[in-house]
Amino acid sequence: MLDQEIKPLTDIKSMTLSELTAYMTDMGEKPFRAKQLYQWMHEKLASDYEEMTNLPKSLRDQCREHCWYCSLSIVDMQESKIDGTRKYLFALRDGNVVESVWMKYKHGNSVCISSQVGCRMGCRFCASTLDGLARNLTASEMLEQIYAITRHTGERVSNVVVMGTGEPLDNYDNLIRFIGLLTDENGLNISQRNVTVSTCGLVPEMKRLANEKLQITLALSLHASNDEKRRELMPIANRYSIRELMEACDLYFKKTGRRITFEYSLVGGVNDTNEDAAALSKLAKPLGCHVNLIPVNPIKERDFVQSETERVLAFKNKLESNKINVTIRRELGRDIDGACGQLRRKHVTAKALDEKV
Ligand code: SAH
Repeated sequence: MLDQEIKPLTDIKSMTLSELTAYMTDMGEKPFRAKQLYQWMHEKLASDYEEMTNLPKSLRDQCREHCWYCSLSIVDMQESKIDGTRKYLFALRDGNVVESVWMKYKHGNSVCISSQVGCRMGCRFCASTLDGLARNLTASEMLEQIYAITRHTGERVSNVVVMGTGEPLDNYDNLIRFIGLLTDENGLNISQRNVTVSTCGLVPEMKRLANEKLQITLALSLHASNDEKRRELMPIANRYSIRELMEACDLYFKKTGRRITFEYSLVGGVNDTNEDAAALSKLAKPLGCHVNLIPVNPIKERDFVQSETERVLAFKNKLESNKINVTIRRELGRDIDGACGQLRRKHVTAKALDEKV
């Protein structure tokens, strides 16, 4: 552990197969060794070099000496009594922790992963941003959240959503690398269509993503249908207007053919009127967007409240009458603080308090 902190080690689990092949060749190894190693890491999900029994011991030793093998350990796991959703708390090698959520659906298992330790976007209703950003996650750390959960549950993951702690487009290069590895045919081979990336709306990165021409789903956390209300909820709205956001969405749709999802957290008395629904319909219509309504999950540091159930239904009806495709998000894992915006580094706070005593 200490060794790894002193030496700048190569992050072997973030390498593409071609990078790994070049790396192995430099070490004087045959290219097929790279493929074996890659499959051990990304297909068989080995948790250590030790398991890679068809690789010569000398090669494994060399890798151990020069490379960091990212492997997350489970610090805590909570399972919801209501729906079986599990929240995992993982330790990173530098002592930071991240959370991931595992959800069981009829159509398969989904994992919601974190992309950063903390977040610097400051959305007013979100718990993950309360302590600011500590650091970006590497591609390997994003992958390992899925790999460690697969090892632990023994069940295959078919859908991945990047909607945990962090703003994925604020960690752009690592995110793209992560998606490439996750959907690679020599790895877990998850279809790009089963990957969703959620953003609070970083316009330049949304445009950049459009040009990558991936088949992933892009979800935009809109939460308001005019700039004034959006600015009350999300500081990022001071930087980019809804008009600029819609242009970026339009580009994304044109370049990829993939329809955008709008995430809309309903906050009682703030963004849940019929006028809000009408304005939201106008934004969603031309782009054929799907709207996902999330009754806001209250966090104790803020006084936002959920809209009444009738209001949520009326809001949904209004959108439907305007022929907008809309769903109300099922709230999974609420009793374990696993629902949207409830992930936070509670653990770190508890630990800091322990150390003070
Ligand atoms: N940074 C990204 C992804 C993480 S948040 C983004 O902003 O999209 C995932 C989703 O949960 C976002 O739509 C976010 O706005 C929403 N969310 C955050 N806190 C929430 C809360 N308290 N209640 C309901 N939804 C919340």
